Amino acid sequence: MGVQLQVEWDLQDHGWAICRISKGPAKVKLFVSYCTDGLADLLASIGSLYGTNQTARFFFDSEPTEIRWVLRNQGADVRVSIYSFPDLAISPDLPDEDGRLLWASTQTRSQLAHVLLEAAQRVLREHGEDGYLTKWTMHPFPVAILQDLRRLHLRHDHCDLAHDVTVPPK
Ligand SMILES: [Zn+2]
Repeated sequence: MGVQLQVEWDLQDHGWAICRISKGPAKVKLFVSYCTDGLADLLASIGSLYGTNQTARFFFDSEPTEIRWVLRNQGADVRVSIYSFPDLAISPDLPDEDGRLLWASTQTRSQLAHVLLEAAQRVLREHGEDGYLTKWTMHPFPVAILQDLRRLHLRHDHCDLAHDVTVPPK
């Protein structure tokens, strides 16, 4: 086994979450506000790579920093690049290259989807849908998006790891 991708979504109080990502020594800790639906956007962006979409972009609002994610299909792999821009008021119009690269990694789409599904389901196990909404307040836990990504992952990635069934399949 190579160095494993790890993702942790740590829901805080008052509409904040900390997203920790690491692959070996390359680690990043992102602060995410509820101004966007961060966990839903993250899961949905990966889901979009199963279709004809070759690149997905979304951002976390880190008040006032923009944390921009760029995911690119590269054959069976997905390249993930995370950039920061100091001022979200102007940065959405700026090209990726103008941002500061915080973290980048290439892994198979299967690994990426699997690790993120696990991270999302840990959140749901820990907090439940009601607890999640109490803390995140602006958006409910993205059950349908999680189900969609899991369906795509199981159907197309031939992943032989174990899969949590906290959220029953549709
Ligand atoms: Zn899997």
